[in-house]
Amino acid sequence: MEAHVEALAELRRIYGKADEEARGNPALRCELSGRCCRFREAGHVLFVTRLEYDEMVRCGGAPGAGEEGVCPWLRGGLCGNREGRALACRTYFCSDEAAAAALTERHHREIRRLHERHGIPYDYRPLHGHAR
Ligand code: SF4
Repeated sequence: MEAHVEALAELRRIYGKADEEARGNPALRCELSGRCCRFREAGHVLFVTRLEYDEMVRCGGAPGAGEEGVCPWLRGGLCGNREGRALACRTYFCSDEAAAAALTERHHREIRRLHERHGIPYDYRPLHGHAR
């Protein structure tokens, strides 16, 4: 349990670095299209690791069933889980998809290593697949 708490704290530090890097790159702008949260409409799937999912639930509470094909934390067109949102939520920018993907990959590697260091199963799968 202690290791898990520490791992979540480290995850938040990784998120902090990703947020800072995104803020420092003028090519990365959120256009508030909401595409990142309406999965079916955008034709994508939000994948998260075990720790990322646990942080989402810790901050945003257990997700309800919600609308199919839409993130269960989307509220009135806005993210209802800003603090706990996953790396891919923080690094999804319509303005420059290539730069956004590079940012995601770099920090995702750190998240994978974090799971390994703490002996926590990586378990990278679609968001809805984590719901217990
Ligand atoms: S957690 Fe927030 S930003 Fe991420 S997909 Fe859900 S509503 Fe969108």
